[in-house]
Amino acid sequence: MIIFGSRSYLYQLAMLTLVCARCDNPAAHSLRKRVVKFTLFFVPLFPFSVKYSTQCTFCGVEHKLPKEQAEQLLAQVRSQQPQPQQAYGQQAPQQPMGQGQGQGQNPFRNN
Ligand SMILES: [Zn+2]
Repeated sequence: MIIFGSRSYLYQLAMLTLVCARCDNPAAHSLRKRVVKFTLFFVPLFPFSVKYSTQCTFCGVEHKLPKEQAEQLLAQVRSQQPQPQQAYGQQAPQQPMGQGQGQGQNPFRNN
């Protein structure tokens, strides 16, 4: 007997500030990706459905959107993120990362 089915996974990709089409508020929307995977004996094997949607955090309405549009939004979010990080980086020193790399390299040098 073969037991197969499906299992859905919900990923939150980003938070976006969009004007909601329903409540008309410039509210935060979560960009979500729902992946439905085919399972065999309860083991997820491969995804056969990937859907993107945004959900308004103000009124809770969910809008489906095509993959291309979701990737566009994601690209926008990712291109916007480095700017505030650079601004904070001027205040916060980036030394901890440099030290971590140095510690990783030293054992090899000693050998
Ligand atoms: Zn809304």
